[in-house]
Amino acid sequence: MLKIKDLYAGLEGKDILQGINLEVKAGEVHAIMGPNGSGKSTLASVVAGKEEYEVSRGYITFENQDISELDPEERAHKGIFLSFQYPVEIPGVSVTNFIKTAINETRKAKGKEDMPASEMLKMIKEKADMLEIDRKFLSRSLNEGFSGGEKKRNEIFQMAMLEPKLAILDETDSGLDIDALKVVANGVNKLKSKDNAVVVITHYQRLLDYIVPDFVHVLMNGRIVKSGTKELAYELEEKGYDWIKEELV
Ligand code: ADP
Ligand code: MG
Ligand code: MG
Repeated sequence: MLKIKDLYAGLEGKDILQGINLEVKAGEVHAIMGPNGSGKSTLASVVAGKEEYEVSRGYITFENQDISELDPEERAHKGIFLSFQYPVEIPGVSVTNFIKTAINETRKAKGKEDMPASEMLKMIKEKADMLEIDRKFLSRSLNEGFSGGEKKRNEIFQMAMLEPKLAILDETDSGLDIDALKVVANGVNKLKSKDNAVVVITHYQRLLDYIVPDFVHVLMNGRIVKSGTKELAYELEEKGYDWIKEELV
C-alpha cells in the first residue's frame, strides 16, 4: 500500500528525514516510536503532503502511484488519513456537520454526488454506536472546549466515517491520559481490517498495550534504526532508547 524508499525530506532546505525506508501493506498495523525530535511528526507530515515540507531525495508511493506531487487534499481523497488534520475549533459547526461536509467533498472529488441524507444518517448512527459515541457528542461544536479524550473521540469518529485505506495517527500530545489512549486504541482495533493499514506514531509504550502492532520501528535522527515486532516495544519500555544508540556506534 505505502512504500517509502530512501526518503530525505525536511523544511527550508534542511533534511530532517535522512533516508527512510518503510513498507506498509494492507492489513498491517505499524508503530513508529522514537525519542522526541527524532522526526516522527515530520514523517507523518511528509506522507500526508503538508505543503511546508520538501522532499529532496527518494520517493513515496501509495498503491503503486508516486504521490510526491499531490497536495494534502488529493492524498486524503486517495484514502490517506492523518489525525490532527482538523484540530481547529469551529464554533457553530457540529461534529456531524463537519464530517458530512468532508465526506461530500471527497465524493465530489471523485465525481460522485452528495451522499443521500438518509444514508449519511444511517452511517453516522452505525459508526457512533460501534465506537460507543454518545449522540449528544455528535451535535457539539467541533473541538470547542473538547477534552483530550473528546478530541481523540472526534478523530476516531472522523476516521470511522472516512474509511481511509491508510490511517496515520500521530500521538503527539504528551498530556493524553489513559482514557484518551483507550479511545484511540479501541477505535483502531475496531476499525482495522484486512483492507486497511494503520501507522501509529507514539512515544508511549503504554498505547501499544492496547493496540497490538505487527511491526515496531524506532526512528532516531531521521532514520529508522531498528525494526521488530511488538516485543521491541516492551524492550524499549524496559530499557529506553540508549541501548539502541550504543548498538549503532
Ligand atoms: P518528533 O515528532 O519525533 O518529536 P519532529 O518531526 O517534530 O520530531 O521534529 C524533528 C526535528 O525537526 C526536530 O529537531 C525539530 O526541532 C525539527 N522541526 C520540526 N518541525 C519544525 C518546524 N516547523 N520548524 C523548524 N524545525 C522543525
Ligand atoms: Mg516532538
Ligand atoms: Mg512528534
